[in-house]
Amino acid sequence: MKSIYESVRDRFLSYVVINTASMHNPTTTPSTMRQFDLARLLEKELKEIGVSDVWLDDVNCVVYGKIPSNVEKRVKAVGFVAHMDTSPDVESENIKPWVYENYQGGDVVLNKEKNIVMEVKTYPNLKNYIGQDIVFTDGTTLLGGDDKAAIASVMAFAEYIINHPEIKHGEIDIAFTPDEEVGGLAKDLDFARFGAELAYTLDGDFVGTYSYETFNATEAQIKIKGLSVHPGTAKGVMINAVDVGVEIINMLPLSERPYTTEGREGYYHSHYFNGTCEEAELYILIRDHDDVMFDKRIAYINACVEKMAEKYGKDRFELKYANGYRSMRKVVEPHMYMIDYLVSAIEKAGVKPNELPFRGGTDGSAISQRGLPCPNISAGYENGHSRFEFVPIQAMEKNVEILINLVENFVNKEEG
Ligand SMILES: [Zn+2]
Repeated sequence: MKSIYESVRDRFLSYVVINTASMHNPTTTPSTMRQFDLARLLEKELKEIGVSDVWLDDVNCVVYGKIPSNVEKRVKAVGFVAHMDTSPDVESENIKPWVYENYQGGDVVLNKEKNIVMEVKTYPNLKNYIGQDIVFTDGTTLLGGDDKAAIASVMAFAEYIINHPEIKHGEIDIAFTPDEEVGGLAKDLDFARFGAELAYTLDGDFVGTYSYETFNATEAQIKIKGLSVHPGTAKGVMINAVDVGVEIINMLPLSERPYTTEGREGYYHSHYFNGTCEEAELYILIRDHDDVMFDKRIAYINACVEKMAEKYGKDRFELKYANGYRSMRKVVEPHMYMIDYLVSAIEKAGVKPNELPFRGGTDGSAISQRGLPCPNISAGYENGHSRFEFVPIQAMEKNVEILINLVENFVNKEEG
């Protein structure tokens, strides 16, 4: 029987070489069929481990499994969710992971031939892992620790729990979902089949991090109709949709952009702008942790567009909102013991808990919005969505320990 360390290491190395990059603006479910390659492997491995009710939804590409309760008393069914896809924004073909054993600090040569070096001065987080065994890439691709480090941990956890019946736990429900990176929001996760009464996603970065607060989010999609005229005779007639778009962008405060904000500060992010004199499209992401501030931001965008409509004509503008989610905070707050149990589980594993108001959304935001409280736990990766991504094997090992402590807490601490 493999140790937890060997189990997470071997699983992780085998998962990351499967290219599961998802695709923006998906036209299929899942967005890329190769996510099924990993889904089928996970289905097989869950069965081998002895997990019950293993099922692959071969339409929506969601993998399910259960570990039944081994205690008499009634304990809430706890779910763990991780996503199988990886970011489409970095090359993911031909991933060549390698393990730097007993890292002793200093720059890391990822690729001698191509002279790709990871420097400590750019990536000081390397220093947190001295003495650990770290999985790196060859500097030309993504690693995919986001979120395969989580999948490896959940699998090793399931294996350990099944082989150690002395660990007391309630029902444990597992789900692996597709397309998180492209806004899939675990929409095809079937709650009835999943069975969890509470759940955690594992999709944060370094070990010990957790979030029960995410952004409130939406995307303002503005269509601008201009009026093209020969530039030589345009005076007083032409309405350049590109210029009008720039005018709107300039109405967004410079101090409220992604690159000028941090922590709990919200922002406007004009992330897509495409057009000609005749017509243009401008997409602005709106983000804020605070509900009231979030609503104010939407009102501000409405006001900007209205102002432009007064200036250029009402029928030149179309504004709609899409791709939204709400912070999970309101849904999680009535169940704060989920966070207390988690913090105690992290501490018991000898890791420092690190609460992070997450500057993004997770599948857990959408899962919470559908009524199942679902905070986020770290997956253990560093520098996600980058060729300089890395995963310390000990971080995944710690995550397994945290999950074990967590399910034990639900038995030991839950009242009634
Ligand atoms: Zn992720």
